[in-house]
Amino acid sequence: MSTVRAVVMPAPLRALERRQFPAPRPQPGGAVLQTLAAEVCGTDVHLFHGRLAGVPYPIIPGHVSCGRVLETGGALTDVEGQPLLPGQVVTFYDVYGICGSCWHCLVARAGTRCPHRRVYGITTSADDGLLGGWTEQIEVRPGVRMLPLPEGVEPLDFMGGGCGLPTGFHAIERAGLALGDTVVVQGSGPVGLNAAVFALLGGALRVLVVGGPAPRLEVARRLGAEDVLDVTTVTDPAARVRWVRERTAGRGADVVVEATGHPAAVREGLEMVRDAGRYVVVGQYTDAGEVEINPHAHLNRRHVTLLGCWGYEYTHLFRALKLMARHRERFRWREWVTREYPLDQAAQALEDMEALRVLKALIVP
Ligand SMILES: [Zn+2]
Ligand SMILES: [Zn+2]
Repeated sequence: MSTVRAVVMPAPLRALERRQFPAPRPQPGGAVLQTLAAEVCGTDVHLFHGRLAGVPYPIIPGHVSCGRVLETGGALTDVEGQPLLPGQVVTFYDVYGICGSCWHCLVARAGTRCPHRRVYGITTSADDGLLGGWTEQIEVRPGVRMLPLPEGVEPLDFMGGGCGLPTGFHAIERAGLALGDTVVVQGSGPVGLNAAVFALLGGALRVLVVGGPAPRLEVARRLGAEDVLDVTTVTDPAARVRWVRERTAGRGADVVVEATGHPAAVREGLEMVRDAGRYVVVGQYTDAGEVEINPHAHLNRRHVTLLGCWGYEYTHLFRALKLMARHRERFRWREWVTREYPLDQAAQALEDMEALRVLKALIVP
């Protein structure tokens, strides 16, 4: 029997392991992909440190990936009815199991909060199969929706955007951007940069990015950010708030998107947003602690709309991918890929990601 190599994260803070798995066969309605690239993102660093609840270690990390269809379990079609065939290069919506029949799905219409929701590479155990991207072959379970990469979008383009692509898209959708708005993005990782992209596409007059380190801010400038502020050199939060207010006639920004992962950024962001503005928190993916805010000054008197943003739905991935195909020359996502790592250098990839030495790291088996 042929076997497939994969990288397994056995438990938090335990060394990654290379393991062999039996080569998978597709279930009816499923498929098997030959992995072309899988991402290494901030989530994987959190997983390594055990900062996410409900993770069924051992896991095969890598939640967003793309691959070539090796075999399908019967005739499959994409969401537009086009056949999905062996040889095609696809990605897939990394979430499955959203039930469509629980209170969250039916009453609240909040699919990303469905308790049955499972995410490849995060809430799927290696004991259940090749359900993460850091492997030579990925099992696409029945019901998991594959999306062919559009004409002209290559795996590197798509993976440059990575999970931050639909996440940034969702954050801007949540923000309810108006044409001509001034948007501040806190954080210049892939989520923040993608939020900047979609703010520009969504009609923002100006996008200001507060983040770091410098190479990431350079990318933000190339995307079209009007101005950037490096938090590694401007370390005083009050000075950063001043910087925003100086660029917004003293009022603050119409929309602020938080994509940093640092709780303190939320208080700071609430001071960057104008009265009656909108604030979207998308960067607090793990519980990194608490922060004090003043309900009178930050919320009530400010008349601010404060929004959380958890995960993304199929629609965000679908539309973001179409927009990528249209605008890939302008935003050049593939240049965000700093380095590619073979499977046996996955630990190095994690280390580089944690140290912010890379903007986007890929595992290329
Ligand atoms: Zn449900
Ligand atoms: Zn991710």
